[in-house]
Amino acid sequence: MAVLSTREKLAILSDAAKYDASCASSGAAKRNSLKSGGIGSTEGSGICHAYAPDGRCISLLKILLTNFCIYDCSYCINRSSSNVKRARFTVDEVVQLTLNFYKRNYIEGLFLSSGVIRSPDETMGEMVEIARQLREVHKFGGYIHLKTIPECAPELLDAAGKYADRLSINVELPTDEGVKRLAPEKKPETIRLSMANLRSRIEEKSEPTMKTKRRERFAPGGQSTQMIVGADQTTDATILKTSARLYGSYHLRRIYFSAFSPIPDSSAALPSMKPPLMREHRLYQADWLMRFYGFSEQEIVADQADGMLDLQVDPKLAWALANRGQFPLDVNRASREMLLRVPGLGTKAVTKILEVRRYRRLRLEDVGKLCASVAKVRPFLVAEGWSPGGLTDTQHLRQKLVPKPQQLSLF
Ligand code: SF4
Repeated sequence: MAVLSTREKLAILSDAAKYDASCASSGAAKRNSLKSGGIGSTEGSGICHAYAPDGRCISLLKILLTNFCIYDCSYCINRSSSNVKRARFTVDEVVQLTLNFYKRNYIEGLFLSSGVIRSPDETMGEMVEIARQLREVHKFGGYIHLKTIPECAPELLDAAGKYADRLSINVELPTDEGVKRLAPEKKPETIRLSMANLRSRIEEKSEPTMKTKRRERFAPGGQSTQMIVGADQTTDATILKTSARLYGSYHLRRIYFSAFSPIPDSSAALPSMKPPLMREHRLYQADWLMRFYGFSEQEIVADQADGMLDLQVDPKLAWALANRGQFPLDVNRASREMLLRVPGLGTKAVTKILEVRRYRRLRLEDVGKLCASVAKVRPFLVAEGWSPGGLTDTQHLRQKLVPKPQQLSLF
């Protein structure tokens, strides 16, 4: 095999990592190397997220340690039977790349994943060593997210948590059947066990010790996971049900949805087309409704006969249109829980409404200043001097609120 330069490896292994969506760095502990004498910081402007137009985070050095893999997951470009160009970084190469990019202010941290080489323990061992050298040898204060391998030894997970801000383990697909069919070498039970171990470790270490009263540092950004959407026939209803179960069982910080990308020479079991990117977006919106707006997953999809989210309108608007009997709400009297259900009102707007209405009554114009579109909230609210009258129940309300198609930029 030809010897590749670091630059060539970087081209291959950063391209191979682009299928991983779970790279956002929220939840990292505040760290400032001014005190430690090292380099880097996660404070202030240390971490500033930049997102590509498709929503992926681009502020981290996002690479694979290697795209060689002994497994053969049929949806993955790096599977053992795939005919892609392969490369493998050494531990030192990843450490130096991270430091060099960090010092040039290209990145705020490292997102490191890997194919499995030789054994899960060996691969995970190298990933942990990279994080260890960054933290202990170079006093690196930036963000580190390690994608862990579920089959690796618990001691390696322990070491990973000591150096990384966030750890993640991919559940891969929304159902066990999907994993068994498309990634037969992976065991959903092992993935779940690993996530449960991680949860216990995170909880355990977040307690102050009896002796020192200090908390041990262990993955302060918590754990997250990712699932591929559109590689099989799983409906959005099932995806959201799985998400609710995962959040409840493993205290995940985030679940990332990654729209399946068709890959060359793929198995006939996979679709030849990728799902619309809007589906991924709607799933994120639904996920947000479950976590911050008090919706249950059943409510979000209850009115969709095929179990799929409406691609034309966002899930909150779809729910409000199907439950118009609950509207209009009086913005000057309704509870926080109900105001959060008004299409167009976000959590910050609702907090502000509750604050302002303590000393004066709100008009529709006031609400308009707190949200992006007054046209969207109008049919669902009563305010001082405003009542929607028959607008809430009008037959054509949906057509009025569906965003107009936009001509995409040609250049
Ligand atoms: S183990 Fe990971 S890298 Fe290897 S084939 Fe499966 S999904 Fe791809």
